[in-house]
Amino acid sequence: MKYIIIGLGNFGSSLAEKLTEQGNEVIGIDTDMSKVDAFKERITHTICMDATDEFTVSGLPLKDTDVVVVAIGENQGANVMTTALFKSLKVKRLISKATNKIHKRVLQAIGVDEIVLPEEESAERWSKKLCLRGMVNSFELSNDYSIVQVNMPEKYSGKSILDIKIKENYNLLVLTTISHSEVDTAIGKSRSVTNVKGLADPHDILYKEDILVVYGANKDIQRFLK
Ligand code: ADP
Repeated sequence: MKYIIIGLGNFGSSLAEKLTEQGNEVIGIDTDMSKVDAFKERITHTICMDATDEFTVSGLPLKDTDVVVVAIGENQGANVMTTALFKSLKVKRLISKATNKIHKRVLQAIGVDEIVLPEEESAERWSKKLCLRGMVNSFELSNDYSIVQVNMPEKYSGKSILDIKIKENYNLLVLTTISHSEVDTAIGKSRSVTNVKGLADPHDILYKEDILVVYGANKDIQRFLK
């Protein structure tokens, strides 16, 4: 896939780096030459330019680009102008970063396909993590369903998935378990290795240190973790 990421601040640069690592072709754009220099080894291509300038923007390979992400945050004026410009150029998929609710409303009025509020989304994830005992990570599939990673409740240690009756009692499905082990490295130090088992079998035995990966309705997950 081909991406253009505009604004190499914390969010934009992390996103551009990760997409490059995953084998995508990424163009990272910023007005600040020091940012462009800092990331030139870690992003497929970096360009120093002003994304609100229509003439310069028209030189970008927009027809070949699958996704454009406007990741300018603090400078809301530049974000809105850039977003409106790319919207008028009819790019295939346009995503823009909002810094607050009013900014989000302005972007909605421009008709952007998708709006991200990274701080709010991360706060929401953290609030869940802090409220639900034992939750390590979560992936929300919709408003009602999630896949969550939870520390193994102590009472289940040594039992099988079948024994704990998670399906009957909570209507949840155990997808897999994750364990951590320490391995010695060549330089004498030990390193923690994550082992994800394949699809869980009902007869698999659960261990105290394992992490359980569970799928189900949010309300059932909350009941299970109470
Ligand atoms: P974050 O909160 O994710 O760190 P910032 O708002 O701090 O985001 O960073 C946004 C980046 O966007 C900055 O590096 C800034 O130089 C860049 N930027 C701002 N205006 C423009 C523009 N018109 N064209 C391209 N890049 C821009």
